[in-house]
Amino acid sequence: MKKRYGILSMLCLLFAVFLALFQIYTQHSGWALVYLLLSAASGLMIVLAFCTKCPVKSDCAHVLPGRTARLFKDRNPGPYTRSELLITFIGMGMIILFPQIWLIHNLIHLFLFWLLTIIGLILIVRKICHSCGNIDCPFHSS
Ligand code: SF4
Repeated sequence: MKKRYGILSMLCLLFAVFLALFQIYTQHSGWALVYLLLSAASGLMIVLAFCTKCPVKSDCAHVLPGRTARLFKDRNPGPYTRSELLITFIGMGMIILFPQIWLIHNLIHLFLFWLLTIIGLILIVRKICHSCGNIDCPFHSS
């Protein structure tokens, strides 16, 4: 069940990114490429700073981040440093905030982007965090 919610939340977030990408592309293909590269780089930043330290990455509910983290050198699990958390939040912020300038030109897409993002985040916090084995995650709750 946890994996089902993990995959569903990941799909919501990925659809939000693809929707933003499409909206930017309709206005400026060059900026769409910038957003694509920025999202990929931010995702990688999050995986390197956060997921490589996760003790349950081989059983990651979201599948993709855990599998990507396993491609890199294993790091000892433990409390996250301020800079690791900062990199993670900056990565998330860049993916979510960057496309707003283009999304504002299409209110339906803007609404759908935030709806998908909020549903994805709610699913993670409500359905996964409490039973996740990464006890050092700031969102972990028992
Ligand atoms: S459970 Fe969370 S921290 Fe661990 S690999 Fe998956 S997404 Fe990353």
